Amino acid sequence: HHPQDEAWESEAAQTLRRVFGYASFRQGQQEIIEHVVGGGDALVLMPTGGGKSLCYQIPALVRQGVGVVVSPLIALMQDQVDALTALGVRAGFLNSTQDFDERAAVESAFLAGELDLLYLAPERLRVETTLRLLDRGKISLFAIDEAHCVAQWGHDFRPDYLALSTLHERWPDVPRIALTATATPATHAEIASRLNLGQARHFVASFDRPNIQYRIEPKNEPRRQLLRLIRTEHPGDAGIVYCLSRSSVEKIAEFLTDNGVQALPYHAGLDARTRAENQARFLREDGLVMVATIAFGMGIDKPDVRFVAHLDLPKSVEGYYQETGRAGRDGLPSTAWLAYGLQDVVQQRKLIDTSEGDDTHRRRLGTHLEAMLALCETVQCRRVRLLDYFGQRGEPCGNCDTCLSPPEAWDGTVAAQKVLSTVFRLVRERRQKFGAGQIVDILLGRRTPKVLQHNHDSLTVFGIGTEFGEAEWRGVVRQLLAQGLLTVEGDYGTLLLTEASSEVLGRRRQVMMRRQPQPQRQTRTETEG
Ligand code: ADP
Ligand code: ZN
Repeated sequence: HHPQDEAWESEAAQTLRRVFGYASFRQGQQEIIEHVVGGGDALVLMPTGGGKSLCYQIPALVRQGVGVVVSPLIALMQDQVDALTALGVRAGFLNSTQDFDERAAVESAFLAGELDLLYLAPERLRVETTLRLLDRGKISLFAIDEAHCVAQWGHDFRPDYLALSTLHERWPDVPRIALTATATPATHAEIASRLNLGQARHFVASFDRPNIQYRIEPKNEPRRQLLRLIRTEHPGDAGIVYCLSRSSVEKIAEFLTDNGVQALPYHAGLDARTRAENQARFLREDGLVMVATIAFGMGIDKPDVRFVAHLDLPKSVEGYYQETGRAGRDGLPSTAWLAYGLQDVVQQRKLIDTSEGDDTHRRRLGTHLEAMLALCETVQCRRVRLLDYFGQRGEPCGNCDTCLSPPEAWDGTVAAQKVLSTVFRLVRERRQKFGAGQIVDILLGRRTPKVLQHNHDSLTVFGIGTEFGEAEWRGVVRQLLAQGLLTVEGDYGTLLLTEASSEVLGRRRQVMMRRQPQPQRQTRTETEG
């Protein structure tokens, strides 16, 4: 390290250190920042939490003039501006929540050249007075945040975003940087064409988080499983445990506390003060476990979260990725652990069936759930599947459960046929609807009161599944759901056949399944011997 290195440090790197207090750029940031500082257009694709904001904030500070940031997140503007102000950056915003005086104050600061960053709601740029205001000041760049809004049909902000395509006609010399965390190549291409960013350089950050170990296991005794994870692998570590409902958040937090793990609850049903207090303690103190609904985590930046555990199935792969992504921001080894069971599928289906919105919306939710299930039941590397979902390529990683102890794939065709024909007998022949519990009892030949009451012991399929135990059969049902060979509906989790079921019943389709390896500790050091 030579003393003159300091002098040669770029203006961008100096700003990073002096203004934001960070020692070094994250992966991808420097290239993007230098490109925009140099006046180039950019399309930036980076996962949530990857550090997109600095990619326009630093160029805005380095370049002459005011950086104009278009963001649909009006509710966050005040927070963003406050955070910047605290760092000594001169920032303001214009949106519909302000009164005349507030707006006038920001406008005159802009005209006087007293702003570094000006945040605008997208609809502002369709108002001629705003455009004329911008004409009278000096603009250093346009940043278009959440740029996927331009590409999504039915999105609230889409018309406003489409109007942004004309920015470069009015201000041809002002560089534009569009940013998004939505990664599919199709969205990417649409953003580029809709925003007239044909000349822009594309920066696609990897969505891989190599230090996170992904593990997904069947939910047997969730509390014991969670406690085992914490005690054997993460004693004294900070972590987040996600649950679906407020009541399970409360119960799990209490359970952990009773078992000597320092845990706090967080959900939208707690009063604002408790929430703020718990969040502040989690950020400040070491080794606290936050038990929370997904209401927790947006904008939380705690670098040393060592594990994220899901006790319920996330609704989508995007959600799973974002929530698990809160682990290991510091780059040190961390765990993303999920326990899920048949009941999760039943519950999620029920939520979808009863959700508000039209059929298209419900179908979309269904597709999200199916993708999540496919990730859970894959015999491939979890990371490869996860990256593939975001349109990126990966190699088997050696740091996920399927890489560390590969599940055996087995030919489950006969087992599938047994389950499906039992469902067929009940649904088609008897016009009855039952959930997985009854199907399994029939397969195992159990004469339970409910089996006897419905005469199910007289079915030809009664007792044809004694080669497996209850857990295995539930696993088979789960995988049939994940593969779309069975579906579930209603309050009681009724199992129903799908179009694809008949291919299996008609012996036209083979069904490969995943045999769950015996639970064991999985750490990198163990596999290295
Ligand atoms: P995104 O908008 O991509 O979701 P943010 O811009 O909000 O992500 O950044 C996420 C967090 O990472 C923020 O707290 C930010 O301050 C922090 N961060 C960004 N870049 C760096 C860096 N180079 N060094 C340390 N922390 C950073
Ligand atoms: Zn892997």
